Amino acid sequence: MRFPFALTKKIASHIIKHKIRKTPKFAMVLQLEPLHTCNLTCTGCGRIREYSTSLKDMVPLEQCLQAAIECDAPMVSVCGGEPLIYPKIEELIAGLLEQGRVLYICTNGMFMRKKMRDYLASVYSPAFEPMLKQLLEGKLISEKEAEVIRKSDAAARKKVVIAPTKWMYWNVHVDGLEFTHDLIVEREGVFKECVEAIKMAKICGYQVATNTTVYRETDVAEIEDMFKYLSSLEVDGHTISPGYDYDAAKKDMVSRLGKDPKQFFLTREMTRAKFAKIQDWGKAFTIFGTPVYQEFLAGKRELTCTAWAIPTYNVKGWKAPCYLMTDGHYNGYQEMLSKVAWEKYGVVNGVARDPRCEHCMVHCGYDPSGALGTNYQSGDNWKNIKYNFGAKPKPFPSSPELAKRAFNGVTIGKGHLAKATAIINSPAAGARGAFANEVHHDNEAHVGSHCGTGDTTERDELLAKIKDAKKD
Ligand code: SF4
Ligand code: SF4
Repeated sequence: MRFPFALTKKIASHIIKHKIRKTPKFAMVLQLEPLHTCNLTCTGCGRIREYSTSLKDMVPLEQCLQAAIECDAPMVSVCGGEPLIYPKIEELIAGLLEQGRVLYICTNGMFMRKKMRDYLASVYSPAFEPMLKQLLEGKLISEKEAEVIRKSDAAARKKVVIAPTKWMYWNVHVDGLEFTHDLIVEREGVFKECVEAIKMAKICGYQVATNTTVYRETDVAEIEDMFKYLSSLEVDGHTISPGYDYDAAKKDMVSRLGKDPKQFFLTREMTRAKFAKIQDWGKAFTIFGTPVYQEFLAGKRELTCTAWAIPTYNVKGWKAPCYLMTDGHYNGYQEMLSKVAWEKYGVVNGVARDPRCEHCMVHCGYDPSGALGTNYQSGDNWKNIKYNFGAKPKPFPSSPELAKRAFNGVTIGKGHLAKATAIINSPAAGARGAFANEVHHDNEAHVGSHCGTGDTTERDELLAKIKDAKKD
C-alpha cells in the first residue's frame, strides 16, 4: 500500500462520518503553530514577519491540545516557526498522539538528531548496540554522543521523548538539492544536516516525509533528482506544493519597480507548466495528496479552495481565511467557520473571487478539495482509492552518481552563499541594489521561505543571479 492502512482508515472514516452527518464544513488537517520562533531567518518567510518570534509569545501546551480537540482534525501538522524549539514539544506530541491524531512534525531538520538521541537515551539497552554501531558507522552520531546514550541516567530515562510510531512522521523541509536548498534556507550545511537527520531517523525506525515548495526559479529537473535522491534514502512520502505570492506584492512590483509581475511570480499558468509531470512523479515516488489535486496542478481540471478544511491555529487564535492570508483571527474554530464569508475566497472556474487568490494553487487550499469531493467528477473516488491502496513505489536505487548530483553545492565554510552574497553586492546587482543592503544576517544571504508565504521577490532575483553565475 502507498500509505499505511491504519492512517488511511482513520482519515477515510473521518470523511465518511461527516458525509453521513452532512457536516457542511469540517477540519481535515490542523496546522498547529505553537510558536513562530525559528533558528533560521529566511527572507520572505511570512511567519517570522507576520508574527512575533519572541519565545514569550507561545501557545500554552494545554491550549494547543484543546485546539486539536476543538477542530477534531484527524491529522495535525505541527509547524511554526521551528516546532522543535517549542519547550514542551515532546509533551505536545505525546498529548496529540494520546488524542489519536496522525502527526506531521514540520521541521527544518536542524534539531532532529538531538531529539532522536534523547529518544535513544531514554530507551537504551544493550539490544540497541547494533543500531548505535550503524549510526556510528554512518557518522550520524559521534562516539561521545553514543557514550551519553549508553550512560543515560534516571532523568534521561524519565524524559518525555519523541519516539518512533506509525502515527507520526518527521516532515522535513527540503526545497531542492544542496546548492538550492542552502540558498533558500540561507545557511550552508542545512541540506547536509537534513540528509543526516533523515538517515538517522530511518535507522531508528521513524517514518519520514519531506515537504517542498516550488518557486518560479525552481528547476523541474532538479526536483526530479531531489525525489530520486530522497527516495533512495527510503523517505516514506513527499508533499509538494507551488509557492504562493501575495497580490499586494505583485502590485508593488508594478507601481514601485515598474516590472511585469510575471517576471517574478509563479502564475497559475507557470504552476501548471512546472507540475505538468506531477502524475508521473506520483507513480514513481510516494507523493502525498490525492490524484485529483495532482490533476488540478497539472492543469487538467479546476478545483474550488477548501481552506476551512486545513485551519491554522496559533498564538492569535484561528487564522482566517487560510494558512497564507490573514484577514482575521477567531477564538474558536466553529466561530471562524460561521463568521468568515467563505464564498468570497478562492477561484471558481478560473475566476478569482478575491484577487489575492488569483494564482493560488497551494496544497493547503486545494488538496483537501480532492479528498472531499468538491468539484466531484465521476470516477474520482475510485481514483483516490486506487492511489492510496496501490503499491508503494520502490525506493530509487542509490548510487554515488546520484549522491554527487544531490551534493551539488559546497558545504560549510567554502561558500556558495559567500558567492551569492558577492553577486548581489556586485554593481551588476542593478535595480535591486538596495536589496544587497538588506540581505545580511549573520553574514548570510536571505532568500526564501519553506512556508511558501510572503513576497519572494528577493529570493527569486537572487536565484536568477546565481543561476546566471553558475553558467559563467
Ligand atoms: S485560494 Fe489560496 S489564498 Fe485564497 S483562500 Fe484559498 S488557500 Fe487562501
Ligand atoms: S521559512 Fe521556515 S525555516 Fe525559514 S524562517 Fe520561516 S519558519 Fe523558519
